[in-house]
Amino acid sequence: MKPDVDRIARSMVQLHGGHDAADHHHAPGPDVPGSWRKAPDFASNPDRAAAVHESTRQDRERYLTAGLAAVDCRHCHVTVQVKKLGPAHTSVQWSTEATQRCVYFAEIRESGGDPARARSCPRLTDSIRHAVAEGCLEEYSNAPAPGDG
Ligand SMILES: [Zn+2]
Repeated sequence: MKPDVDRIARSMVQLHGGHDAADHHHAPGPDVPGSWRKAPDFASNPDRAAAVHESTRQDRERYLTAGLAAVDCRHCHVTVQVKKLGPAHTSVQWSTEATQRCVYFAEIRESGGDPARARSCPRLTDSIRHAVAEGCLEEYSNAPAPGDG
């Protein structure tokens, strides 16, 4: 066996392991010397690919929903997802259903106005303020998602 080939093979294993570590996925790493030839098998393994995909999807969902809290409008009882980004910045995600059911928006529609131009239902703004005061809504900073590092 040529020593050079062996050295290249080892560096390939290291390269592969480093890539997996960067992606935060635990690889069934070929730690046994000489087993590196089997390493590419798991990369083309559909089960493993699915597992990686699932884990990526969960990471994305965790990022998107981190800090989100459901707040009910005390006036019209629609539920919106609220994320408090800072003392003066609250992000409210209205679903289509919530926009249609909200009494405040309905009143705007009935009077010929455009609900899209209203920033929020004032009753809901009150409800959000209450939720914050009651500690139902945690302030969420844009910190790195858990799992990094
Ligand atoms: Zn409302």
